[in-house]
Amino acid sequence: MLMELERRQIVETGRLMYERGLCQMCGGNISIRDPKTELVAIKPSGGAYIYLKPEDIIVVDMDGKVVEGDKKPSIETQMHLGIYKARPEIMAVVHSHPLHAVAWSLRHSYLPSVICAQYMLNGAVKVAPYEDAGSAELAASAVKAIGEDGYACILQAHGVIAGSCFDVLHALEMNMVVEDACRIAMLCGPGEDYFTIDAQLGAAGGYDGLERLRRFAGQP
Ligand SMILES: [Zn+2]
Repeated sequence: MLMELERRQIVETGRLMYERGLCQMCGGNISIRDPKTELVAIKPSGGAYIYLKPEDIIVVDMDGKVVEGDKKPSIETQMHLGIYKARPEIMAVVHSHPLHAVAWSLRHSYLPSVICAQYMLNGAVKVAPYEDAGSAELAASAVKAIGEDGYACILQAHGVIAGSCFDVLHALEMNMVVEDACRIAMLCGPGEDYFTIDAQLGAAGGYDGLERLRRFAGQP
């Protein structure tokens, strides 16, 4: 079986994402790229996380062609592949449907840095304008919103997607950080008069997010 370890990691991460309430039964999707072969393991379309097994995970090439697996790959396969193509340093992508981030996207075009954990996202996170789920337009909208130095975006009226340079658990953690930050910003109530780290840093601010993350994590 190709990418056996990655398939197991996708199953485990999916269960965690579901149990933590970041998606419903089979919502969202998860993928891992193998930098040696440029193959990508990805969740099948419509598979419920509580039943998902490693053999259910699909392996596709960078064009989305199925290389191994007997189910249909996730409808958001093009969004995952678009991120890998635009950002070759990204190793794993997780897309979730968390409530507060989606609510935030209905009123805002971006999420400012409101918690220090956002250093791992390079600070503020853009909202990608609404496009239909599974469409090429959604894939393009997400890739544009993540840009050249972001690691996540909020998909308007839909969810969150994040790509990690490290591993799939880290990509899930970045989804959680976006959700936490949106929830905390909403707990401050309406209006824009709350503290933000972006404002504190000023025009000359900005984050050296990845460097700090590497220092904290003591890796690679
Ligand atoms: Zn979705």
